[in-house]
Amino acid sequence: MKQGTVIRVSGPLVVATGLAGTRMYEMVRVGELRLFGEVIEIRGDEYSIQVYEETEGVGPGHPVFPTGDPLSVELGPGLIAAIYDGVQRPLDVLSARHGDYIVRGAEEPALDRAKKWHFVPKVEVGAEVAAGDVLGVVQESAVVEHRIMVPPDIGGKVAEIREVEATVEEVVARIETADGVKEITMLQRWPVRQGRPVARKLAPDTPLVTGQRVLDTFFPITKGGTACVPGPFGSGKTVVQHQLAKWADAQIIVYVGCGERGNEMTDVLLEFPELEDPNTGEPLMDRTVLVANTSNMPVAAREASVFTGITMAEYFRDMGYDVALMADSTSRWAEAMREMSGRLEEMPGEEGYPAYLASRIAAFYERSGRVRCLCSEERLGSLSVIGAVSPPGGDISDAVAQSTLRVVKVFWGLDADLAYSRHFPAINWLTSYSLYLDTVDSYCSDNIDENWSKVRGEAMAILQRESELQELVRLVGMDTLAPDDRLLMHVARMIREDFLHQNAFDNIDTYTSLPKQHKMLALIIDYYRKAQQAMEAGAPLGEITAIAALEGIGRAKMVPEDEIGKLDELHKQIEDELDALVKAEV
Ligand code: ADP
Repeated sequence: MKQGTVIRVSGPLVVATGLAGTRMYEMVRVGELRLFGEVIEIRGDEYSIQVYEETEGVGPGHPVFPTGDPLSVELGPGLIAAIYDGVQRPLDVLSARHGDYIVRGAEEPALDRAKKWHFVPKVEVGAEVAAGDVLGVVQESAVVEHRIMVPPDIGGKVAEIREVEATVEEVVARIETADGVKEITMLQRWPVRQGRPVARKLAPDTPLVTGQRVLDTFFPITKGGTACVPGPFGSGKTVVQHQLAKWADAQIIVYVGCGERGNEMTDVLLEFPELEDPNTGEPLMDRTVLVANTSNMPVAAREASVFTGITMAEYFRDMGYDVALMADSTSRWAEAMREMSGRLEEMPGEEGYPAYLASRIAAFYERSGRVRCLCSEERLGSLSVIGAVSPPGGDISDAVAQSTLRVVKVFWGLDADLAYSRHFPAINWLTSYSLYLDTVDSYCSDNIDENWSKVRGEAMAILQRESELQELVRLVGMDTLAPDDRLLMHVARMIREDFLHQNAFDNIDTYTSLPKQHKMLALIIDYYRKAQQAMEAGAPLGEITAIAALEGIGRAKMVPEDEIGKLDELHKQIEDELDALVKAEV
């Protein structure tokens, strides 16, 4: 067997010669321990290899073994509820076998080879099938039906298929193709740096409802969309992420954790398996795949981890699911790139990051999208990507944050000051934005309420005006404000406290449907309009801002979803009480 020789080692970077024929991004095994590595640069006869494990003990003269395959992941039943490292080694299995520290060179397949799955065919013998068509299904967890698809490069006539209990390596079907009969197992492999093929990318048209009012109403993301969220410490990032994982209307969640310190990742590993899926009462892990870079793995593995995660996410998208991938934090991922680039002695770009930082970040986010799946039926899937960034000192002018903002369409500005003043979720409504507003407006106007965008627009205008007025108040005090501005300040506070504040730990408040979100905000805007009229008609501001209906508005968030019709009654109450104030004045 062909074999190369190590000539230099620098941390996770190993340079070897004698690997002629080995290609870029090919997996190799390094040293007698056969550590995992990937070729990331070829200069003449020198091959630079990024090694995903501690390289201690590896030195010049040690062997390097090419594998012939690019860095790939295994796809098939067994992904759900799995916890992988950055190169898809099953952490849970490894730690059961070897203790908490991964033994170097440990070889453990990503998918359990012994487990039998109940395969139920969806096509019959004789059927013509094309790439991506569903051959059969496996009930993988209580909530996930795993669809076994024809691999992307195969098509033909089904020669054999039957209901079986099979492992991922056993043949479940045979397909007659133009170049002979192909045996189909439930296991596919796919190179992580290559997006999985789709029939067509589609424009986003549906919101990814999260049930979080500030997100859905003001800064919505679509199914297949991209968002970025900065993660200053103590800003409520973990809670936001858990809320998204629990409530976003995606059937599959892929969570990629690139923790800075070991304990951050341990938190994720301990917390996620504890979360309950609010819709089914089952563990959230029943529809989740975790990728975790633990602290005892070298940074190089982080670089691969987001691609490992997104490839698995694409695979579920291809089945026709709405998938949400959350990556935390992409800054740690970028740091891994910086470290490798430094060792390769590449010309550094901004802040020492490699010149290809922006294109690597773009390549990751561009794998999101709403798609027509590759198959002969009409199947749609989506992959939404939410990336956290944690720039040093929280300064989002840094290279990673800026490169990210150039490609993502939504920015959720988590704000440590808001969190400090206990405004949760601490999303800053002045700095956040969504470029999907128009798309979501037309969806919500058609499906929720024709006044959706009008109400949202007015509320945002009030909040923006409030911040201008606050500047003024800081300089000259509240008393100098005209009564109509004081009314506006009052209404802005209602929007913040009665609408934006949302308690993730309250059974009802934790999730708000789009219709309820609209009703809640429409009440506040309706009150504002009528209060302005009442003020013009002479009613005193002090009484306008103290009508009993305001208590009802304040309690609206606690109205259960199946009783939201009750909120409509408040419009009448507002009108009656304000009318009474006006009448009392004349
Ligand atoms: P971070 O991960 O940014 O350090 P956390 O997500 O752990 O911060 O949040 C810190 C604390 O803030 C939580 O323990 C909780 O008390 C509070 N908190 C954050 N978000 C919310 C929310 N939406 N509703 C209620 N409390 C919240």
